[in-house]
Amino acid sequence: MEETITLLRESAAMLEGHFLLSSGRHSNRYFQCARLLQYPERAAAALLPVAERIKADIKAGTLALDAVVGPALGGIIVAYELGRQLGLPGLFTERDEGGGMALRRGFTLKKGARILMAEDVITTTKSLGECAQALEDVGVVVVAVVCIVDRRQAGVSISWPLYAACQVDVADWEAASCELCTKGVPLVKPGSRKL
Ligand SMILES: [Zn+2]
Repeated sequence: MEETITLLRESAAMLEGHFLLSSGRHSNRYFQCARLLQYPERAAAALLPVAERIKADIKAGTLALDAVVGPALGGIIVAYELGRQLGLPGLFTERDEGGGMALRRGFTLKKGARILMAEDVITTTKSLGECAQALEDVGVVVVAVVCIVDRRQAGVSISWPLYAACQVDVADWEAASCELCTKGVPLVKPGSRKL
């Protein structure tokens, strides 16, 4: 877990400061996992500990998997890299014309296949829920979830066993009641040229 956090920091994939989130809330940390995943060796290293835990559970007979599937975009590289480390296919779901999440590109999975869902950062469970629905629609079964960063707020539960490479506490506030604003810390909008 510490190693994954170090890799995130070294890749500037975990920023610490005072950030304006797309929701309008302010937070003290911001994740941009693509910055870590751009380096294949770091992607492999960040996911190695979690892959080892998954392999141990497969060996112990408490987990069985047929494929790894992640929701685009965040889950694509995570699903690929986990697929590589676990010796499984790595697929992804993406938006269709109607805006719903679906398995496209002629990807097929056998009915009843056991799926590990992959995500980069879990904040809410919205995209995982949509991905799971798309998978249920094709008759396969989500048996577990894997992510690089679990940064859920208290009270956000996940319906599947979760393998998280690291867990990070993130404080966030409504703009009007932000502690960092009160302290006068300059607010940064992620994605701006400064970052
Ligand atoms: Zn603020």
